[in-house]
Amino acid sequence: MTEKFVYSFKEGNKDMKEILGGKGANLSEMTSIGLPVPPGFTITTTACDFYYKNGKKLSQDIKFQISDKLRELEKDMGKRLGDRSDPLLISVRSGAAASMPGMMDTILNLGLNDETVKGIAQKTGNERFAYDSYRRFIQMFGDVVMNVEHKLFEEILQRVKNERKIKFDNELNTSDLKKIVEMYKQLVEIKAGRIFPDNVHEQLDMSINAVFNSWNNDRAISYRRLNNIYGLIGTAVNIQSMVFGNMGEDSGTGVCFTRNPSTGENKFYGEFLMNAQGEDVVAGIRTPGKIEELVKIMPEIYDQLINIRQLLEIHYKDMQDIEFTIQQGKLYILQTRNGKRTAFAAVRIAVEMVEEGFITKDQALLRVDASSLNQLLHKQLDPLSKKGAKLLTKGLPASPGAAVGKIVFNAEDAYSWNEKGEKVILVRMETSPEDIEGMNSSVGILTARGGMTSHAAVVARGMGKSCVAGCSDLTIDEHAKIADINGLKLKEGDIISLDGSTGEVFNSGLSLVEPVLSGTFGKLMEWADKIRKLGVRTNADTPKDAETAIKFGAEGIGLCRTEHMFFEESRIKAVREMILAETKAERERALGKILPMQRGDFKSLFEIMDGKPVTIRFLDPPLHEFLPKDEKDIQEIAREMNVSSQKLKDKIEELHEFNPMLGHRGCRLGIAYPEITEMQSRAVFEAAAEIIKEGKQVIPEIMIPLVGNVKEFTHQKKIVDEACQKVMKEKGVEIEYKVGTMIEVPRGAITADKLAVQAEFFSFGTNDLTQMGCGFSRDDSAKFLKQYIELQIYKKDPFESLDQEGVGELMKIAIEKAKPVRQNIKLGICGEHGGDPDTIKFCHKIGLTYVSCSPFRVPIARLAAGQAAVLDKIEENDKAYKSFIKDSVDQIKKKYVNNISISDLEKEMSKILATRKTSGYSTA
Ligand code: PEP
Ligand code: MG
Repeated sequence: MTEKFVYSFKEGNKDMKEILGGKGANLSEMTSIGLPVPPGFTITTTACDFYYKNGKKLSQDIKFQISDKLRELEKDMGKRLGDRSDPLLISVRSGAAASMPGMMDTILNLGLNDETVKGIAQKTGNERFAYDSYRRFIQMFGDVVMNVEHKLFEEILQRVKNERKIKFDNELNTSDLKKIVEMYKQLVEIKAGRIFPDNVHEQLDMSINAVFNSWNNDRAISYRRLNNIYGLIGTAVNIQSMVFGNMGEDSGTGVCFTRNPSTGENKFYGEFLMNAQGEDVVAGIRTPGKIEELVKIMPEIYDQLINIRQLLEIHYKDMQDIEFTIQQGKLYILQTRNGKRTAFAAVRIAVEMVEEGFITKDQALLRVDASSLNQLLHKQLDPLSKKGAKLLTKGLPASPGAAVGKIVFNAEDAYSWNEKGEKVILVRMETSPEDIEGMNSSVGILTARGGMTSHAAVVARGMGKSCVAGCSDLTIDEHAKIADINGLKLKEGDIISLDGSTGEVFNSGLSLVEPVLSGTFGKLMEWADKIRKLGVRTNADTPKDAETAIKFGAEGIGLCRTEHMFFEESRIKAVREMILAETKAERERALGKILPMQRGDFKSLFEIMDGKPVTIRFLDPPLHEFLPKDEKDIQEIAREMNVSSQKLKDKIEELHEFNPMLGHRGCRLGIAYPEITEMQSRAVFEAAAEIIKEGKQVIPEIMIPLVGNVKEFTHQKKIVDEACQKVMKEKGVEIEYKVGTMIEVPRGAITADKLAVQAEFFSFGTNDLTQMGCGFSRDDSAKFLKQYIELQIYKKDPFESLDQEGVGELMKIAIEKAKPVRQNIKLGICGEHGGDPDTIKFCHKIGLTYVSCSPFRVPIARLAAGQAAVLDKIEENDKAYKSFIKDSVDQIKKKYVNNISISDLEKEMSKILATRKTSGYSTA
């Protein structure tokens, strides 16, 4: 039998996303639950794969299958494509397994030509509608399929409107539209070099090819890269009978969400336009009405929508984004999918759906993308500075959070200004998919047109950027790069502030404040904490970092990089003295100046952490980092330090290394200059002694960096232990402490059994372990890694998300070697990867004790650790379910002495399954 490449909506279901794409699978599912979906069929993603493999051509077999389904559709609708008196019109839409809104192509109103348009006019009794549909079709087909620039069609439209002195499209009359149709056809002929195809089957073939081609257009590729969508084989194509929202005042179209996608409030939310098509809502050319206003215009339709809202939430158990059309008083649902939402809304919806009994707490944890919590933790405009500021205007609050930046007027400028380190706000009439790189480079987006479901709003929300849309007071002269808001002129580079939660736009750079976290956020975190096995600590070098991290729920400090304390303005002089010292005595004198400062630092950290573990990593970077680089600074510092500039230069020369990241750093410094380790140990223990004397608790954990050989570790540990003995004696207190090592040199990982004899804990320094494991310089590899990711040599930047296959394997080896030697060894991670959700899930799997990350990523880590535990549970349940099935089948076969037909076996199995209580986890 040949492979099936085309499915009617009656044949598929929601679990067939891989081959039907998200849209196709949903149309099938919606059809099966009885929603009023216009009939149609889906050409699979596998057909797209074949199309590319076949030199961008459809095989005869696929073409036959399409014709078959088209005939079926014609039968269902009682209309034929190309029929002169009652033609079928269809839409041709893309739809991949992952949602890629607006990135690929769509063609509406297919099936119109100079003959069928008359049929439509006659059948509907509405000639204006017929020609309006026809001109829309030529425009869309001309742009998408025949590559004639969209703006050229717009120019013709505008010219006719100007001639007729009218403002809106719906003021065009039939003869205007007929004229536009002719002008459009001429435009296509000139620009595309061929006449507009009037054969409707040719229109269909060309459209299917165009949708398949759009899988690999620049913006689709860019979107997949920005959203880490990899491994899909192509897009499906959905062919569906058209319904029209522009057939008069009893027709309309809209987009709505079963809950508010910005705030998560459990309230029907959406927008509609009467006498319009879907593209009018998305393009934002006319400002739509709120969905609740529909009750006044069409109460039955509104009630039907409310019922569908309920039905969809019960069926999908998630917030849905619905597209609908009303055609001459009849409602059609065109699409439903899990609605995109802000992180704020995601948390609220997940928590409230648990409270409403839709989902379990574990399911709620999986509903929120852990890294999206970033959006919640971002700053807001300071209400005090808002009070004194000039409010320029108010638009729609399209995506929450605040942005302060310089105005730019196009995506290219946004990109290049951002590359130069500027914070920019992209100001546009409206955004389109071509703008996504620029939107990604901006801190905020401001548009003149468009509603809450416009491109700018949807994309900004997904990116977690502040956005104010539909700001009708704003006009823009793109060429002159000038915006006008109520008479006030703003030019490129002027600073403005946006409040994406209220829609306010201010005429200056306001200050920002920390966010306040909501009750539902706290609940979700509580549920994550309850189930997670991994501890969550923070990387903190300053009291401020530590305080922030505690507020976000950190359970200790996993990495305090002490060199950051050395860099501080007031201390660097003493550090330089230490470096320039020629004798041990001179060095000790300089260290003596640093000691009380470090002691003070450690004491404040111990106080803030209030008994929670604090891991202090001793000095790590190469010493040249503390010395000046350019001539002017050298002269100035030499003068300040009262040494000759030659002496300073000699030292800089002496410390120069070809590859300092592999040079004299980490424990190698402490070995060359034991007095540094001694001073740092003293500072830790003296601070601990003071805390203990105050009746408080502290158990410092001292961590030796860059250890590759156990002897390096024992050398350093001896100094630490001796220093502790001395301090305990001097201060008359007992201090409990631990000495551990970082595992960040591959040799350290593979000799972990030896290290574990001596070290009481390990913390994986995955920044260096990646550098040395992959052989990528931390400082320079960005230059080629971008290409590596594009070529998928590495799935993600290995400095951002752990290379589990390689560097992860080194971690596994270290753990396997260490555990038999020291069963309860504490294992952490403190490289940047400690805040990356995928890495955190890996750390859970390999049995780490905790992850440590920057303060703002602590909530992300808590949630990701909770998700890892839930996923484990699901995996175990799946395993248990599979082994239950296998055991049951074995037993039945035994009973029948292997002499049982497949259908009897199925009957026996369904009896057994009916008695088994579902676990609620099994995905089988
Ligand atoms: C590491 O290497 O992962 C680490 C945490 O240390 P640093 O980044 O300070 O080298
Ligand atoms: Mg390191």
